[in-house]
Amino acid sequence: MGRLQKILIPFLGLVLAFWFYSARDTFKPEMLRGKRVIVTGASTGIGEQMAYHLARMGSHILITARTEAKLQNVVRRCLELGAASARFVSGTMEDTAFAQSVVREAQTSLGGLDMLILNHVGASYFGFFDGDVEHVRKLLEINFLSYVAMTTSALPMLKESEGSIVVVSSMAGKVGFPFTVPYSATKFALDGFFSSLRQEFAIQSINVSITLCILGFIDTERAVRAAAEVLQERPAPRDECALEILKGAALRRRELYYRYSSTRLPLLLRDCAAELLDYLVRSRYRLPAPPGA
Ligand code: NAP
Repeated sequence: MGRLQKILIPFLGLVLAFWFYSARDTFKPEMLRGKRVIVTGASTGIGEQMAYHLARMGSHILITARTEAKLQNVVRRCLELGAASARFVSGTMEDTAFAQSVVREAQTSLGGLDMLILNHVGASYFGFFDGDVEHVRKLLEINFLSYVAMTTSALPMLKESEGSIVVVSSMAGKVGFPFTVPYSATKFALDGFFSSLRQEFAIQSINVSITLCILGFIDTERAVRAAAEVLQERPAPRDECALEILKGAALRRRELYYRYSSTRLPLLLRDCAAELLDYLVRSRYRLPAPPGA
């Protein structure tokens, strides 16, 4: 190895290490202390875990979902864990007026909003697309249009606080997944809407961050019930996932990948080897043998 290379390679390594560490701010729980946060879909799963992390960090929390009894329990636990305040509104995100009323509740009871975490997801099936157009329409209303409606209503408050919007999406919203066609469609729609909106915020110098969260398989009851039998991978823990989302949001990251190895790394193939990526996605499933095989 030439003398120049011997000097150049370690030097480059140092420059890269310095850039990597200095460019990445570090998360501190104090960043979320006293912040006014809405978490949707917080009666169970990842949303419930986000509420508990926020409570430990001392945030003001407003949670929502349909099941009042579960929301009451989550609020009680949040108060035990140290939330600055915790309250809930119950209702269905099929109804745009309800989605908007949740934001109004933040205005009335919290006097503003620092972070809007859009996380809820409507029930869908796991199987070949069955041609039910009404189901696709209903899922778009719950998983997509209510996200748009809440964002629109919350924007004046978020502009004032220079706050954050957090959109919980999925690998199924970045690459085609079999057996979740309606769900994938709603998640792709979120990427289109919020990535375009981020561009407009940049043009208009609107200081509201948008963090799109790309999640792999997580161990929530619903996901495990639907996919554990057919997916050949172990789900990641929901409490860790919830914390990673909050860190990414507090640091105003553009996108958050969890777990990195099963989301960001495979997606690197998307532009240069799309068919290989499709094959790798299909190979994660335990598929029944084709008839006659
Ligand atoms: P989950 O356990 O099924 O929880 C869904 C939440 O949404 C619940 O609080 C549910 O409460 C609420 N919800 C359902 N339908 C609703 C409706 N019509 N109106 C209002 N709220 C409704 O989901 P999760 O697994 O935690 O997923 C959370 C987010 O992560 C979702 O956006 C999902 O797409 C994403 N994600 C999850 C995984 C995974 O493997 N778990 C993977 C990738 C992405 P009620 O039933 O009480 O209304």
